[in-house]
Amino acid sequence: MKVGVLALQGDFAEHYHSLSLLGVEAIEVRLPEQLEDLDGLIIPGGESTTIGKLMDAYGFIEPLRAFAQTRGIWGTCAGAILMAQDVGREQVLLKIMDIRIARNAFGRQIDSFETDLAAPFLQPPEPPYHAVFIRAPIIQTVDGKAEALLSLADGRIVAARQGKLLATSFHPELTPDLRFHRYFLELLRSQPAI
Ligand code: GLN
Repeated sequence: MKVGVLALQGDFAEHYHSLSLLGVEAIEVRLPEQLEDLDGLIIPGGESTTIGKLMDAYGFIEPLRAFAQTRGIWGTCAGAILMAQDVGREQVLLKIMDIRIARNAFGRQIDSFETDLAAPFLQPPEPPYHAVFIRAPIIQTVDGKAEALLSLADGRIVAARQGKLLATSFHPELTPDLRFHRYFLELLRSQPAI
C-alpha cells in the first residue's frame, strides 16, 4: 500500500505524519508523474483557491480526474472543496464527487471549533470522534453516487463518501486519533473502483 499526500500547499506534513504512524508507505506528491504507482491520495487542508491554482499550473487536473476513476482520494477541508462539483463560485475544482459545498460555512465569528461526533463506521466505533473544524466548509448536498457519512447535531453534513472517494470538512490529521486515516486505508483496500 502506497499513499501520496498532495504537497502543493496546506497541512500535508501532518497527513504524512499520520500515515507514517500507521506504517504506510507515504510520499509527498509535487508532480503528476508521482501519482503513477499510488494506491490512494490525500488532498490536505489549506486554501482551496490556492491549491486549485497550483494544481492547474502543475498539470494535475486531468491526471487526478483519471486517478479518481480507479483509485481512492480523500480530501480534508480545502481538499474536500476541490473534489466537489460546485462551490457556488468560480474556482478550479476537480469535480470528482457528486457533492455541492459551501466554503467558510460557519461564518466569521465562530469559524473554528471542535466537536464530538458519533462515527459508528470507524474501528473501534467508540469513543465518539473528536472533529476539528477550521474555517470549514459544509457539504450542502450529496447527490448521485455520493452518500453522507457524518452530520452535525443540526443535520449539516460534514463527511461524505463515493466509492473510494472521501470528503471531510474537518481535519483528522490534526488529532492523534488515527481512526479516520485507517478508515481511508480500508476503503483503498476493499472498495471496487467506481
Ligand atoms: N477556508 C478554506 C477554503 O475555503 C479551507 C480551510 C481549511 O482547509 N482548513 O479553502
